[in-house]
Parts: sequence; structure tokens; C-alpha cells
Amino acid sequence: QADERESMYLVSEFAKDYFKRQLLKTETGKAIGLGYFKERGFTRETIEKFGLGYSPDVWDAFTSEAIKQGYKLEFLEKTGLSIVKEAKQFDRFKGRVIFPIHSMSGRTLGFGGRILTNDKKAAKYLNSPESDIYHKSKVLYGIYFAKQSIAKEDNCYLVEGYTDVIQMHQAGIENVVSSSGTALTSDQIRLINRLTQNVTVLFDGDAAGIRASIRGIDLILEQGMNVKVCGFPEGDDPDSFAKNNTESDIKEYLEHNAKDFISYKASLLVDEAKGDPIKKAGVIRDMVNSIAKIPDRIQQEIYLKECARIMEISENVLYSTLAQISAKAN
Ligand code: ATP
Ligand code: MN
Ligand code: MN
Ligand code: MN
Repeated sequence: QADERESMYLVSEFAKDYFKRQLLKTETGKAIGLGYFKERGFTRETIEKFGLGYSPDVWDAFTSEAIKQGYKLEFLEKTGLSIVKEAKQFDRFKGRVIFPIHSMSGRTLGFGGRILTNDKKAAKYLNSPESDIYHKSKVLYGIYFAKQSIAKEDNCYLVEGYTDVIQMHQAGIENVVSSSGTALTSDQIRLINRLTQNVTVLFDGDAAGIRASIRGIDLILEQGMNVKVCGFPEGDDPDSFAKNNTESDIKEYLEHNAKDFISYKASLLVDEAKGDPIKKAGVIRDMVNSIAKIPDRIQQEIYLKECARIMEISENVLYSTLAQISAKAN
């Protein structure tokens, strides 16, 4: 079991180097892959730091090279780098630019691959499948590069995608990680919790994900962490925003627009329930549910007061609702 995992790590390390070589040393890689990253505004230094790569647009280019170098098909398949179908072998990431996914200690666990076209029919991103070395729910993209800065700044920015992490780094803000499109899990939050108590969640400006993310954020409260949220202008995400602004502009924007999560959620929900008493009652219960997850009594009290103000309801009602919910939970 341990030997198998070691073989999977080795083949992943080989793949990372292979994809890097393709990107930086081959004519097609340079023209297509490097061209793509340059277009997005990534510098050579950034590309090398994050170990970005390119997988040639040939159905088995990577797999045959790996086998030629002595790597076993068994482990190529187990890591999901190769797909075996009817005794034929295919490269999972064929024709995509590659984002290696590292563990907290810098080991290569898996990959994300992005298509270069705007073909709406193909999946924009493909990821390595779940495996014995890659557990999606326990990994945060960028944590290896961000950990020092998270500890130093005593805050962690949580963004939606790979390119958001990379572009923020390049702009000089390095305490950034991403759950890469999957819903946030308690294990991911625990990773951050080892480094800081403070999380700021940055939403894409498309608003689509905000409702869904709010549920994940309650998990952060449960671990007793302080959560802020910050949106971006319509059509922007941290990637595009960081690309078009200076470090000090970005920092200023984040400082001015990051709102405390509980207050943010209360305002958002109250707006939605506008004038509808039944909906409003549901919102109040939902808010008190969030507050009930905060382990610290004093913090709970502060938030209850704040919510009473935002939702225009008496503190007493909130206190008794909280007591009911807490009684049920115990
Ligand atoms: P880009 O700027 O390259 O278009 P993005 O990071 O802004 O990418 P979003 O559409 O905001 O992409 O999605 C956020 C994250 O969700 C992505 O970085 C990726 O990890 C994941 N994701 C997006 N689309 C897909 C998909 N079709 N399949 C799997 N994961 C995806
Ligand atoms: Mn998005
Ligand atoms: Mn995005
Ligand atoms: Mn984007």
C-alpha cells in the first residue's frame, strides 16, 4: 500500500516535469501553451514558480514517453494520468495547459488541465480523479506557496480557481488558496486553521456561486474561525481584477469591500425576504443557525446584537431562538 503510493508520487513527479518540458522546451508547447499563459498575463517567473505545463495534443504522447522511461501503466492509470480503454492508452490531459496540485509540503498530488479554446461543449477544466494520493476534499490549491504568507499575514484569502491564486501571487498577495471549483470541506478548513484563524472568501463577480458558497462558509464558523467575504465588480474575478490593478489598489479594494460574513449573510437574506413575513421568519432561523455554530459565547452575543439590528427584530427573540436551537443540538 505504501509502496504503491510511493510509485504514484514518482509518476506524478515525472508527469509534472514532462509537462513543464513540453511547455518551455518544445516548439508547439512554446507557441500554444506558453502563448496562452503569456496572453493571460503570467510572467516567466510565475509560470516556473507554479510549475505550469502543457500536455501535447497527441492522444498518447505522455503515456508512451512515461512507459518508455520505465513507469508502469498500472500507476499511470491509478493516478488518472492515463486512461486505458479497450487495451488502448490515452492521455487524460491531451491538448491542455497544466496546473500541478501540490500538498502542504510540496509533493505533486494531481493536476488540473484547462482547454485553450472557448469551446463550450468541452469541459473547461479537467482534474485528476480521486486516488490513493489525491483526495480532493483534503487539498487546497496553492497551499504550498501560500502557507508562509498566510501565517505572516494571519489571514487566508479563499478564491474559486487556479488562475485567481496565481494572478494574486503575481500581484504580490501570496496568502491565497483555492478549493478549485468543489464545495469547501471541513478538512480543507482544518488545513487553513493550522496557519490562521482568519479567512476572507473572495467571490467571482458573477454572483452565481454566492448562494451555494454560503453553506460552505458555515463550516468555517463551526471551527471557530473569523470569516469575511468580498465580492468583485460584475464580470470580474480575482484573476482579472489582480491582472488589471496594482498591488496597493487590490489591497485597498479588499480592505474596503471585505464584510463580516454574518452581517453580509443577514443583509443578503433580509433583502431577499423583503416584506414577506414568512420568508423573513425562515431567514431569522437560518441566521440563528449560523450563529449557533460559533463556539465562542462572547462572539455569539456580539453577532446576535448585530443581526437584530440588520433584521430589525428584537434581540430577545433571537436569544430565545438560539436557546431552542442549542437545546436541540445537545
Ligand atoms: P478561467 O479564468 O481559466 O476561465 P476560472 O478559475 O475563472 O477559470 P471559473 O469558471 O470561475 O473558472 O470556475 C472556478 C473553478 O472551478 C476553476 O478554476 C476550476 O477549478 C473549476 N471548474 C470550472 N469549470 C469547470 C469544469 N467544467 N469542470 C471542472 N472544474 C471546473
Ligand atoms: Mn465562477
Ligand atoms: Mn472565475
Ligand atoms: Mn477566471
